[in-house]
Amino acid sequence: MTGGKAPGYSNLPPLDLGDWRENAACLFTDPEIFYPSDMFSLIAARTICEGCKVRRACLKDGLEDSHGIWGGFTPDERRELRKRLRTTKPEHRTLLIDRSADLGPSN
Ligand code: SF4
Repeated sequence: MTGGKAPGYSNLPPLDLGDWRENAACLFTDPEIFYPSDMFSLIAARTICEGCKVRRACLKDGLEDSHGIWGGFTPDERRELRKRLRTTKPEHRTLLIDRSADLGPSN
């Protein structure tokens, strides 16, 4: 998945994501579940994400993507996180993303 950069977001430092996908909890899961059409599907996707050890890297990589679930976050939740990042000091942005991934979108 790839996505364009959101306005005002281009001053973030590049992220070293490595090959995190090889350790994804969803590696052998039907990708359709990460494009939920109802609450049941969303809960199913989030349940997988909650137990994923590469959740931080996934959220960072998918932060600017406007489709699907990344790191347990919907597109709208990632948009809100990007807004918060724009008003966060550059040196604290990675910490905010990591904390958000650890705590989930409602925190
Ligand atoms: S956080 Fe969720 S979508 Fe991302 S790699 Fe893990 S299981 Fe897959």
